[in-house]
Amino acid sequence: MNKKPKPTVGYLTDGKGRWWRSETQPQCSDEDVFGLICQGVWGHRGVHWSYKQDGSYAYWINESDPGSIEKGIAAGWTPPDHESYVHPLDKRSEYYVTHHSVEEVVDPLVIERLENEDPPETDAYIDRPLSPDEIKHLEDTGRV
Ligand SMILES: [Zn+2]
Repeated sequence: MNKKPKPTVGYLTDGKGRWWRSETQPQCSDEDVFGLICQGVWGHRGVHWSYKQDGSYAYWINESDPGSIEKGIAAGWTPPDHESYVHPLDKRSEYYVTHHSVEEVVDPLVIERLENEDPPETDAYIDRPLSPDEIKHLEDTGRV
């Protein structure tokens, strides 16, 4: 397994002085032989898994947890009409996107940095509402 990537961190504001810090855990990077990328969170237990374009549930061996798959089986998939199909709703808690937290920023020094486009983490994104000038520019250029 590769070195664990950092969580994705971002800051969101209402444009009126309130800020929230968002943190999403990294996605598992394991790939099956057909190029499907696992939808689990980085470092998870159990089989690697994803869904094929036809909706089939695909799974394959997790070398970090080899006991999680039937002995002698390396990979497989089950179509939606099969009795052992795993519905996407049943995988929701394991889906990496759900490994996410949001908390309000209360430190005035951090808020001051954010207002100056200087987040504490250098690779964090900032999501803020457009200003009236930015909206007018988009309207003037026919993009909204
Ligand atoms: Zn995985």
